[in-house]
Amino acid sequence: MGKRIFLSSPHMSDEGYEMQYIKKAFDTNWIAPLGENVNRFERELATKVGSHAAAALSSGTAAIHLALKAAGVGEGDIVFCPTLTFSATANPIIYQNAIPVFIDSNYETWNICPKALEEAFEKYPEVKAVIVVHLYGLSADMDQIIDLCKKHNVVLIEDAAESLGTYYKGKHTGTFGDYGIFSFNGNKIITTSGGGMLVSNNEERIAKVRFWATQSRDQARHYQHSELGFNYRMSNVVAGIGRGQLKVLDKRVEKKKYIYEYYKTELDELEGIEFMPNNDWNEPNYWLSSMTLSGKIRPIDIMEVLEKENIESRPIWKPMHMQPFFEKYDFVETDVSRLLFQNGVCLPSDTKMTDEDLERVVDIIKGLWLR
Ligand SMILES: *Cc1c(COP(=O)(O)O)cnc(C)c1O
Repeated sequence: MGKRIFLSSPHMSDEGYEMQYIKKAFDTNWIAPLGENVNRFERELATKVGSHAAAALSSGTAAIHLALKAAGVGEGDIVFCPTLTFSATANPIIYQNAIPVFIDSNYETWNICPKALEEAFEKYPEVKAVIVVHLYGLSADMDQIIDLCKKHNVVLIEDAAESLGTYYKGKHTGTFGDYGIFSFNGNKIITTSGGGMLVSNNEERIAKVRFWATQSRDQARHYQHSELGFNYRMSNVVAGIGRGQLKVLDKRVEKKKYIYEYYKTELDELEGIEFMPNNDWNEPNYWLSSMTLSGKIRPIDIMEVLEKENIESRPIWKPMHMQPFFEKYDFVETDVSRLLFQNGVCLPSDTKMTDEDLERVVDIIKGLWLR
């Protein structure tokens, strides 16, 4: 059996940047809690994406949670959330005792369908916040979504966990809304082993987020708390990994794009295959190369034949409205997310893949069409 090929796994820099930053933290005994790496990582990431301020947190999920809190979302508030996403987008809505209303996708973007969003606004004019996701590094239809949010005067939160390095009309995803979040979980385009970042142009709100994330400790010699606190801050060691990884982000995007183009060139002609949409306003990071199938070969056939060869692949996210935990919540439907889930597959998109690895994957998949 050939060596394992992953969907997307950690890939440290060849130059060893991460170790240099970590070593400095160790040498000065500043491994925790905060310190230079955290401050610098916040500034470096904010500069990279073009946001005024950033708060480094323990995960992308924590970042979504505190974005909702910063947006004033609380008990009983309605939050619009894409149905086609990872559960981490929706869970923090429940942490805040708020109520998610799930919004279906369109084929043009795989993300929130602006028409469905408009319908949701008509049904729930009292909505408190909208979360938009840029799935697999494909940007959502931001102009239309922003127009709707402005018209209804609603806070926009961008879950850009999968889209670090993705631009919409030349501007970085995660910087259009009032708040944007990024994730550095192990499978993301860059990773710190685990971690997240909340960005915003509102520096005051970001300062408040840092306060909440360090147990809401008031300025006092003794431990004094006037607000509920969280232990959500990123450690100085983890931030060191992040600083090193940020230096190779552009390289990682380049490689992800290469992988996508390789697959597209080799597989696009096969009957029934359609690759994920790439609109002309979209400059994706190609986090996971994904496609849908409409012929007699099904996603499960591809996943099974690859798994037999020790190669990882996955279905498209299972929509939230189809999840046992979330199915009781309201849902504005276009049926697109269900069909993407049913017919979609994410191909191995690991940046450590060689041309031989890509050839191996492509040959195995093509073999299904020859049977
Ligand atoms: C990974 C991911 C998250 C959560 O990030 P963590 O850092 O793992 O908490 C949130 N939303 C989406 C869309 C993700 O893919």
